[in-house]
Amino acid sequence: MADKTPFRVIIVGAGPVGLYLGYALGLANIDYVILERKESVLVNYGSIIYLWPQTARLFDQLQLLEPVQQAAARMRNKKRTDGFTGNVLTTARFPEFMERRHGYPFLPIVRCDLLRILYNNLPDKETRIKTSSEVVAIETHSTGVQVHLKSGAVENGSIVIGADGVHSKIRSELKLLYKAAKGIDANAAPMMANFNGVIGRASNKDLRIEENVLFETRGTGTVIQCTATKKGEVHFATITPVPDPKPAARQRVTMQDVEDHAASIGHVVVCRGVTFKDLWDNTGKNTVWKLNQEEGLLTHWHHDRIALVGDAVHKSTSQNGLGLNLGLHSAASLANELQSLLQRNPSPVTSAVDQAFSRYQHTREDEVQFILNMGRGMVRDSASKTWGTWLWTRLMLPWLDIESFGYGIITSLMMIRLGLVLLYVPFIGKQGSMAWKNKPLSAP
Ligand SMILES: Cc1cc2nc3c(=O)[nH]c(=O)nc-3n(C[C@H](O)[C@H](O)[C@H](O)COP(=O)(O)OP(=O)(O)OC[C@H]3O[C@@H](n4cnc5c(N)ncnc54)[C@H](O)[C@@H]3O)c2cc1C
Repeated sequence: MADKTPFRVIIVGAGPVGLYLGYALGLANIDYVILERKESVLVNYGSIIYLWPQTARLFDQLQLLEPVQQAAARMRNKKRTDGFTGNVLTTARFPEFMERRHGYPFLPIVRCDLLRILYNNLPDKETRIKTSSEVVAIETHSTGVQVHLKSGAVENGSIVIGADGVHSKIRSELKLLYKAAKGIDANAAPMMANFNGVIGRASNKDLRIEENVLFETRGTGTVIQCTATKKGEVHFATITPVPDPKPAARQRVTMQDVEDHAASIGHVVVCRGVTFKDLWDNTGKNTVWKLNQEEGLLTHWHHDRIALVGDAVHKSTSQNGLGLNLGLHSAASLANELQSLLQRNPSPVTSAVDQAFSRYQHTREDEVQFILNMGRGMVRDSASKTWGTWLWTRLMLPWLDIESFGYGIITSLMMIRLGLVLLYVPFIGKQGSMAWKNKPLSAP
């Protein structure tokens, strides 16, 4: 039976993906609310996230490119270094070539700065976002959903979108409802914490690391990525394989755990003359964070009136710098499907919602799978310390670096040019020498 109340989307999680989805639904005139577990959307910690050109285009469409560009650092090139000596093995100038080819730059931005921009510019944020609203359970019925909060309050809506990150509660609820309906497990293969590491921010005053370069170590068993910005800060993240990987779960970490982990990788040479210990000694300890770096891709992205988006459904380590980029594009795809569905039928029945969710998964699944597989290969290759890798790194990599080959043409063709946009938002945007595959309505 069709419902008479206006369609209302409940987004769970005010991370970057949940906030982006809020903008996208607002532009489609779809009513929504965002429920966030924390007391505030704004935080003052976080690592650098590399927004790729296709994602810069998404922000351009929201008219947020300017503030994002102002807050972002520049990225000149990426240098892969030998983690034993700090010698540069490859220098990929692809950020520069990508900007020429696609019209938009790479934008390295600290996650909390991105959240601040998304939050501050969100129309009607005071009523759209409800903080201290942790979701603990979901019930679905023939025309909508009831979302139960830890406070005891209940939020009613038409559908739920779980943008609640890698430890997603909505994913667990979806699994329970799926099992109750079908008698089998959805998403039997969980997200796995295959790697862990630390993130933090060091002073560059004494280190003098070259600015606006992404350094990435190879060959030592741990991948260390760092970038020095014009503000005199070095942002870093480390990725080490875990000997006995477990399914992703929130972890309690003490400062001693963080120090022990940092000490175990102190010998890795980040770039010429700078070891990780040097970096650590110049790091403000209030900026450090130890975290698992999970990997995984769900088989069931939706069930009934519930769908998942962002890290809740697909997750890679930070090494390929694509997790959020993928999440934002998935959110754009989901918004396109919902806008198209509601334009045809403002009160869709559950089977129509299910079809729209299926099209969303279908649109995104192949690209996500491809990129996650590539990411899995890259992080294992960079972390590996076998003789084979040692030889490959020194003899072949400098000549066969895919990021330098043809000025990054493969990355352009197979990924960047395929970037999505909100199809219903008139927009011209920028273009370089290579045309975008997906174009929205032209601006009037
Ligand atoms: C060190 C590091 C570097 C990275 N670098 C890059 C990079 O260069 N490029 C890139 O694209 N990606 C990068 N990533 C990945 C990127 O940070 C994530 O993909 C991105 O943050 C995922 O966004 P999200 O909104 O899906 O989830 P999250 O950012 O995890 O947000 C989820 C939100 O949901 C809230 N929440 C959780 N449970 C509940 C609940 N039950 N009820 C209500 N609210 C809830 C949380 O409080 C949170 O605010 C990096 C990640 C790390 C760790």
